[in-house]
Amino acid sequence: MIPKLTLPRKVILLFALSAATAAIGIIFCERVEILLPAILLVFLNFGFAVKMLLKAMKDFNEAIAVIRKISYGDYSAKIDTTRNKELEVVEVMAKKLKDHDLHLSQRAYQTAMLKELSERISTSLDARDAMEIISGSLSKVVSYSTVSYVTFEKDGQIIFKCHLEESVSRSFTEEVKKKMLDTFRALSDAPIADDNIKMVYFGTIFDESARDPVRSFFNLPMIIGGQLVGLINVASTKPGLYAEQEVAILYVIIEQAGSTITKIRSVLAEEMGKINSMLAAVNEGLIMVAREGDLLVINKEAERFLNISGKENISTFDVIHALYGIFDFRGAMDQVLSSGKTETFSKIKVGGKHYKISASPVKNNQDEKHAVVFVFSDITQEEEIDEMKSEFISTTSHQLRTPLSSMKWFLEMMINGDTGALNDKQKEVVTDIYNSNERIIALVNDLLDVSRIESGKMRPEPTPTNLVEFITSMLVDLKAQFAKRSQEFVFEHPEALPRIPVDPKLIWQILQNLLSNASKYTPEKGKITLALSLEPENILVKVADNGLGIPEFQKHRLFEKFFRADNVNKSDGTGLGLYISRKIVEASGGKLWFESTEGKGSTFYFTIPVAGNKNAKVE
Ligand code: ADP
Repeated sequence: MIPKLTLPRKVILLFALSAATAAIGIIFCERVEILLPAILLVFLNFGFAVKMLLKAMKDFNEAIAVIRKISYGDYSAKIDTTRNKELEVVEVMAKKLKDHDLHLSQRAYQTAMLKELSERISTSLDARDAMEIISGSLSKVVSYSTVSYVTFEKDGQIIFKCHLEESVSRSFTEEVKKKMLDTFRALSDAPIADDNIKMVYFGTIFDESARDPVRSFFNLPMIIGGQLVGLINVASTKPGLYAEQEVAILYVIIEQAGSTITKIRSVLAEEMGKINSMLAAVNEGLIMVAREGDLLVINKEAERFLNISGKENISTFDVIHALYGIFDFRGAMDQVLSSGKTETFSKIKVGGKHYKISASPVKNNQDEKHAVVFVFSDITQEEEIDEMKSEFISTTSHQLRTPLSSMKWFLEMMINGDTGALNDKQKEVVTDIYNSNERIIALVNDLLDVSRIESGKMRPEPTPTNLVEFITSMLVDLKAQFAKRSQEFVFEHPEALPRIPVDPKLIWQILQNLLSNASKYTPEKGKITLALSLEPENILVKVADNGLGIPEFQKHRLFEKFFRADNVNKSDGTGLGLYISRKIVEASGGKLWFESTEGKGSTFYFTIPVAGNKNAKVE
């Protein structure tokens, strides 16, 4: 201990007392009874004071010597002067400090690791990802020859993935695998067959000459929702490598990763529960399928109409199977994923009910299309009303046909003078009636075609046909119509076309409609072109005119029933021709489309498959 460098207070007190008694002796020098004790006290106090002063001076010298030793770097002097108990305290404190330091660096690693894990886990929720991250960063805390993990794949297969940090022999990794599987089997009830294990090795290459066995190792179990889902193993050829403290911190990390995933999964399950109860209340059938094919969502209504309610572990395969022959589910998914927009598909009939199908892409945070959601809307009621309407139109049209034909016949007789000669005025009126009757007959015929198409009664009846010959023979009447309006007509076609199996009546119905439209909607002296060309799989038919064209804002409605554009004379058409033509083309396996510029003209195209008509039912 370093002595104090201050003058003891007792010394000063004793000097003061001797001075005071000396003063009293001087004041009372005539009185012997006071003078004698005063002299005695002065001597006593002075003696003690001098003795204590000498002791203080000795301590002071010692202190100076110690301070000098410390200043020259001889620290033992300090220790020498430190009592044993204080030395112990210093030693304990130094150890605590060292421990604290270690603890802090481990905490720093733990925190960094947990941060990385939580960031990556929150987007994957996957035990395998967590193990991949942990095993990939273990090299920061421990040294090893191999780090491996085992876990389950989505299809139930076990995966054993091993990273070789140093070259080891195959028997080393086999030993690691065995140790891991033994632990896995001991901790889990899941059956693990040796032939159901996928092995992945990476890192450095194997060295078959290496003889070192596993000398140190430890296993870390990954538990999610109370279930063992995987195991990480660290192994080394060196003995006694893994201290309890290092392993303990890794346990904490993997345990926290497991509990984070467990928590997130339970929150997700709760949210899914809410969404599912909402979906259950929706009248539409909803199915959501991931890009890779996993079934993500199916609501009760969809399960019900697909007749798969109550089935366990419903998958996309069940959906495809239930819709087989009715709707190409996989094809529709591909179509939506490639177009990236909502698509509507033709109506289907399942279990006696009619459904309209639409499908939209679902995008994730990175704006990638990662799933498709299908909505099946029950339109049975609308369809029934439509059917009733069609039936009504069909019956009425049939009923009207006979009297209209009689009228036509009688009017023709009158115009021809078979019922007596008509004067000019009468002839004009009767001709007007005849033309109006013709328009009603055209409408009734169109309506009958529509109802035949909609009830599925119109079917192509293919026969091998030479299209050029057939069309040329049919053009006579139309050519007269073009000539009446002084329109130029050109028919372009290759020298020879193969005979193909088509229904000539239906082909002519389409052509007649397109060509008479071209004539109707092209002013006098205009030009109309009909062109046939052979493509690898189709015959392409083109009908072009340089007439009125179609207003841009109405193009999208052109194939609707009864639609007529604003720029045409409302009295010379029914608005059904294009609707019927497109249906017939589609039923024959082809396509019909157009290009048009208002004021410049229009071109209509349609294809006829060379393989012939599909002979499919018209929807
Ligand atoms: P319709 O000709 O009896 O009115 P369509 O269904 O054949 O019925 O045609 C529907 C509408 O499409 C027509 O009313 C017309 O507005 C437009 N259209 C069809 N073809 C042409 C064409 N070649 N040029 C301009 N407009 C056309």
